[in-house]
Amino acid sequence: MSSHKTKSEMMTHLFDEVFGCNKCSIFETRNSPLVGEGCLDAEIMMIGEAPGYHEDLQGKAFIGKAGTILDQLLKHVHLLRQDIYITNILKCHPQQNYNPTLQEIKACESYLYRQIKIICPKTIITLGKFATQTLFSKVSLSFSKISEIHGKIFEIQASYGTVKILPHYHPSVACYNMSMLDTLKQDFEKTIGVQMNLS
Ligand code: URA
Repeated sequence: MSSHKTKSEMMTHLFDEVFGCNKCSIFETRNSPLVGEGCLDAEIMMIGEAPGYHEDLQGKAFIGKAGTILDQLLKHVHLLRQDIYITNILKCHPQQNYNPTLQEIKACESYLYRQIKIICPKTIITLGKFATQTLFSKVSLSFSKISEIHGKIFEIQASYGTVKILPHYHPSVACYNMSMLDTLKQDFEKTIGVQMNLS
């Protein structure tokens, strides 16, 4: 019998591990982990920070206020959630949305890298400082401030081929400052440009 596992089998295994995970103390207070959702063959993967209050209750990605902004951005560039893959740096909700600690990120990040290897996205959009900083550090890109690199395109070589990394502001910035919505929209437009060059 072949030992070759399908993407779906590998992701199911990963989900099971995250649901049983106790590698950091957030597991004590979480309701439901949010591992990720969307298409396992997606060319675009989006990485946010961590599930918020609503995501923790329902186990679904970006369904709170930041999710409303994300939906506007996806609509703006004619992308459907079902055609991309959405996940976060932390799979569990830090209470009151405190900033993830380095220890928590280190405990959780291997799940993300396994997700990337399963999906093999051609484009990775990091949403916000923590997602960008974590991924940049993994691929040895230097990170200073999200305000300096948002909307730029970085290219790296993954084991399965070339990957473009596009750092964006986190959609939640537009919950506090609506003028940021235009900046986010412009950065999302570049995503579509990248996709068109690929096909
Ligand atoms: N914010 C994030 O970064 N991720 C979510 O899933 C929800 C809100």
